[in-house]
Amino acid sequence: MILARISRAIREQNWFAVVLEFIIVISGVVIGFQVTEWRAEQRAISDETDIIARLHRDIESVGEGRWDWAAERASTRDLLITASAKLFGDSEDDLTRAECNAITQSHVFNSPSLALPILAELESTGELDLISNSDIREAITRNFLANAWSSEMDIALNHEVFNLSARHSQYFDFVLPDEPEGWNPIFDGSARCDTAGMRRDPRFLNELADNISKSLFFVTAVLDGPNDSFTALHEAVDAELGESHSDAVSP
Ligand SMILES: [Zn+2]
Repeated sequence: MILARISRAIREQNWFAVVLEFIIVISGVVIGFQVTEWRAEQRAISDETDIIARLHRDIESVGEGRWDWAAERASTRDLLITASAKLFGDSEDDLTRAECNAITQSHVFNSPSLALPILAELESTGELDLISNSDIREAITRNFLANAWSSEMDIALNHEVFNLSARHSQYFDFVLPDEPEGWNPIFDGSARCDTAGMRRDPRFLNELADNISKSLFFVTAVLDGPNDSFTALHEAVDAELGESHSDAVSP
């Protein structure tokens, strides 16, 4: 239609009409491009809003059990240190029940992952750049690095496991509770230790020393690193969403 009008204007040598038709054509193309660009921008904004909302839901879905487990593992490490004064140092006191039970758990180096499903999905589809907020992007990078380091350490720490109550059974007794339903001997404080026997056994002490060293890496790399980066990511997402929840479940 427009081409027909331009052809007629050229035939009639109506240059004003020719110029006018060209301007109409070019304006139409320019407006068309701008509308397309605007729609793409709106779609990207809406995608980013949806992604950040989902990211927040994923963060909040990490249950209280994860943080309790992490706190318990960190306190086991503290008990191993106080036990060390009695087994490797000058103290002649017997191990407390808590210290004895920390030794029975001293080979347990695992932790529920803090990987977030939405980030794994965006990474696999190469769409992480849909998130434009620089604070969130930086927090995501730190989160990826911390989780990668954590899982590498997890594998390394569990490569050779010294389950001391199984390997040195002569120093441990497990006391059956009055109500044994759900008995969890390693984790519920049932163990009793022979402190004097342990002190005299270099093989036991060396294996315990190995577990104590690993517990340091476990707390710093497997627990603290991911916990800290997870909390920082949550804060960056909260800032973007304008959320604040002082009762948030986190370490
Ligand atoms: Zn939040």
